[in-house]
Amino acid sequence: MTQQFKPDPVLSAEIDTKFVKQEYEDNYVPLKKQVYIKKETGADAMAGDGGYEETYLADAIRFKMKRDKKRFWAGDNISDYVSEEDKAKLIDEATEAFETVLDRLLIDRENDPNSHGTARRLAKMYFNEIMAGRYEPAPDATAFPNDSQDRYEGMLVVRSELRSMCSHHHQPVSGVAYIGIIAAEKLIGLSKYTRIAQWCARRGTLQEELCNDIAREISKATGSRNVGVYIQATHGCCENRGIMAHSSLTQTTVLTGAFKDDPSVKKEFMDNIKLQQEFAPR
Ligand SMILES: [Zn+2]
Repeated sequence: MTQQFKPDPVLSAEIDTKFVKQEYEDNYVPLKKQVYIKKETGADAMAGDGGYEETYLADAIRFKMKRDKKRFWAGDNISDYVSEEDKAKLIDEATEAFETVLDRLLIDRENDPNSHGTARRLAKMYFNEIMAGRYEPAPDATAFPNDSQDRYEGMLVVRSELRSMCSHHHQPVSGVAYIGIIAAEKLIGLSKYTRIAQWCARRGTLQEELCNDIAREISKATGSRNVGVYIQATHGCCENRGIMAHSSLTQTTVLTGAFKDDPSVKKEFMDNIKLQQEFAPR
């Protein structure tokens, strides 16, 4: 005997497409917040009269940078505006903001033990690690004179391992920079090339811009107008999402002075990179 089909009362009920506002008890209790109120002094007091409220230290710093027309893009260094003491407060403020992000992502940061301290870990990681190059002043690169009779006049190529992050997706960029210079009147310690490159890289960057930034900063530190920078890197935003390309490599080259104008210098640089890659592939 076949059973009589009984329509499901819920599924077959006529759907009321009108949303009815319902009153309900909200059990959500926001976590404790810490807010820093900055006391206005001197020139900063001018912020006070335009209806501008200084609630967060980050807002006060942003106000100052805007007032000074100081660019503060993800790849810019803003160490002149952020003191070491400020950093602790900024990390507290970013922690609070990351807590909100986790809440909006519907992650139970109160009960999930793995998500418990995540907001603070993220805030500290951004300020002290992956974006440290924005908040720290340029590495101290003591220069040694290279102006005696037997001065070094050749090419110098240094391989620097890089870790960066793309501004668009905040995904990791990892690769190697080959930095070449023709020695000028001064020389810097070999490790300084990498320190400078990493200081440029530890920000939100575009590889194209990073290549330019490293060339400019190396030129500044060494006084050489003949600089070549070649970067090869893989990008998390192409590997972990989007096109999911697992072995794609992005190559960028910036050449200045003789590196650009003299084909034999350019060739020597490129040949040296190949020799470096035989020594240390990737
Ligand atoms: Zn990206």
